[in-house]
Amino acid sequence: MTAACPACAGRQMPEHPAGWLAWQHTNGCPLRQFEDGRHVADLDLIASPRRRFARRAATPTEVTLLGALGYTIPADLATELRSITEHVIQRRWPQLEASINDTGGTAA
Ligand SMILES: [Zn+2]
Repeated sequence: MTAACPACAGRQMPEHPAGWLAWQHTNGCPLRQFEDGRHVADLDLIASPRRRFARRAATPTEVTLLGALGYTIPADLATELRSITEHVIQRRWPQLEASINDTGGTAA
């Protein structure tokens, strides 16, 4: 499934290696600004060479964008981070992946 950003109407890039929340936001999109800030924090979180994986609580922006994709968001939603390259972090939400097994969704 693809969707438009609720703030700027940019399109999701569903095949992007970073995961479900790779979007073509406009430069002024407030959700892009939150996402960019979170990306910097996530890079710090997994910056250690020994730590390619991390798990944290989902951000309000992630919840908003995942909601725009049609997911029902649990209160305790966790985001899993995996370092793919030096600058690309793949984000996943296993709790949501489990919920779409029988709907033909986009789980990788
Ligand atoms: Zn946007």
